[in-house]
Amino acid sequence: MASFPPATRFSPSGAAATLLRLVDRVPRRGAEASGHGRAAAPRVAIIGSGFGGIGMAIRLRQAGIDSFTIFEKAERIGGTWRDNTYPGAGCDVPSHLYSFSFVPKHDWSRKFPGQAEILEYLDDCVERFELRPHVRFGTEVTAATFDATAGCWQLDLADGSTHVADVLVAATGQLNRPHVPDIEGLDSFAGPSFHSARWDHDIDLTDRDVAVVGIGASAIQFVPEIAPKVRTLTLFQRSSNYVAPKPDKPISARTQWLFRNVDPLRRLYRAQIWLRFDAKFTWFRQGSRIGRLGERKFEQGLAPLVSEELSRQALVPDYPLGCKRILISNDWYPTLLRPNVSVVTDGVDRVTPHGIVAGGTERTADVIVFGTGFQTTSFLAPMVVTGLGGRDLHETWSDGAEAHLGMTVAGFPNLFLLYGPNTNLGHNSIIFMLERQIGYVLQCLRRLASERLAWIDVRPEAMARSNRRLQQELDRTVWAAGCHSWYKNPAGKITNNWSSYTWRYWLRTARPRWSEFRVAAAVPAPIGAARAR
Ligand code: NAP
Repeated sequence: MASFPPATRFSPSGAAATLLRLVDRVPRRGAEASGHGRAAAPRVAIIGSGFGGIGMAIRLRQAGIDSFTIFEKAERIGGTWRDNTYPGAGCDVPSHLYSFSFVPKHDWSRKFPGQAEILEYLDDCVERFELRPHVRFGTEVTAATFDATAGCWQLDLADGSTHVADVLVAATGQLNRPHVPDIEGLDSFAGPSFHSARWDHDIDLTDRDVAVVGIGASAIQFVPEIAPKVRTLTLFQRSSNYVAPKPDKPISARTQWLFRNVDPLRRLYRAQIWLRFDAKFTWFRQGSRIGRLGERKFEQGLAPLVSEELSRQALVPDYPLGCKRILISNDWYPTLLRPNVSVVTDGVDRVTPHGIVAGGTERTADVIVFGTGFQTTSFLAPMVVTGLGGRDLHETWSDGAEAHLGMTVAGFPNLFLLYGPNTNLGHNSIIFMLERQIGYVLQCLRRLASERLAWIDVRPEAMARSNRRLQQELDRTVWAAGCHSWYKNPAGKITNNWSSYTWRYWLRTARPRWSEFRVAAAVPAPIGAARAR
């Protein structure tokens, strides 16, 4: 069992304590005198109980705000770490950076954490901060509609009921809806098939002929795990990957002791990982010398593996380093060399009852596993989100999702996105980004509460300005260099990735620039609507 510092209850600290004090100091006279208007602490609805939703809830608790509800469509918390239980699932960001700075865990067992340990960490966060009573499990939010008069969101839930909140925090992430390609004949397949994020543990793969379609970050982890037990493993790989060594190792009991008892050491360790990772952003600049050097090194290193069975095309990517996620594994290339493993680089033509046809040749399969990734560019889908004047979020995003700093969308007041558009990274920890976002949202909440505002909305011109700059910067990155990836929508707009170093995101989001927002004062309900200013 993971262990936390001895305290079992949360206690406000630092910025959270300041927020608590400020929120506590909010004059109550408005609400009391009129009987209308906003309560001191806004009612917050959080959608999703992955890292984003749990982190937001912890920070609210630490700030003394208990008026929040987490809506979780599944029966368990954990988001991506609940869904992805495939063999070998783990994180390619070191554990000490892939965890909340405000909930340190001193005894991570390995440098790179496995799925079970990450999920256990999230469970411990929930227990420690007593979040479970706030979670409505098995409750899917199907629609959210903003009421400008009351300054609140009405949520429609799948069971037909509704819920009202002043602030909506969508923490649904970018990787929660599996993508299974629409391949001709798939329905005719006689055996079982499943997606890596819905791994069917009831199916024994021992001595079966297994086909894997799609070789990305997930497949690179489960393929080496299943290869030794299956009879044959056919990998349908449309694009090859840059796979670097994984410097993983157990963290010794002595180091765990040091991290527990000399906390500055743990902080220093975490900080240096963050710094080292952030420096890697230079690789992602188009034409970067270090990137080109990396590509050459890969090509040279892989040359000896090329053989009649394993083509150069199967090994060496034909796109710039970093254009798709750089993967890490120590057993990927040894797995490709196994006699029972073959790589097919032709596109999949169709599925038959007993196999897959690619390049005109049928390969037999008893089981098909899809490692084909996620529907990444339709943020918040399939939820219907309606903002000011009845505008629909997905129509607003018909040319590609965008938000101001990935968090706020003009015309959708009091809506905050966590891990929203253009906040994904190829080089550092998403938890770092989430923490910046959570801090930013808390400051907006503080303003809503302290000024008794009905709503706060990013100005369209501010959002347009920040996105213009973002896209200009993205144009100079490898992601724009011609490879297709899940970072782009079908029209080619990069909707998922942040354009720079994470320290720049940190600086940009440290404080909301209030001139970029318009706010509406709460007006006693019977008299009129909230007034924008
Ligand atoms: P992915 O990286 O998007 O890989 C999907 C694979 O499916 C690609 O090889 C893609 O080929 C292929 N594909 C898609 N449609 C296909 C089709 N119709 N026919 C043939 N192949 C097709 O998905 P993922 O592996 O699930 O990983 C998604 C993301 O999850 C990662 O990038 C990462 O951010 C996250 N993840 C992280 C970790 C971690 O350790 N932190 C682990 C797993 C996943 P093309 O490349 O040619 O499109």
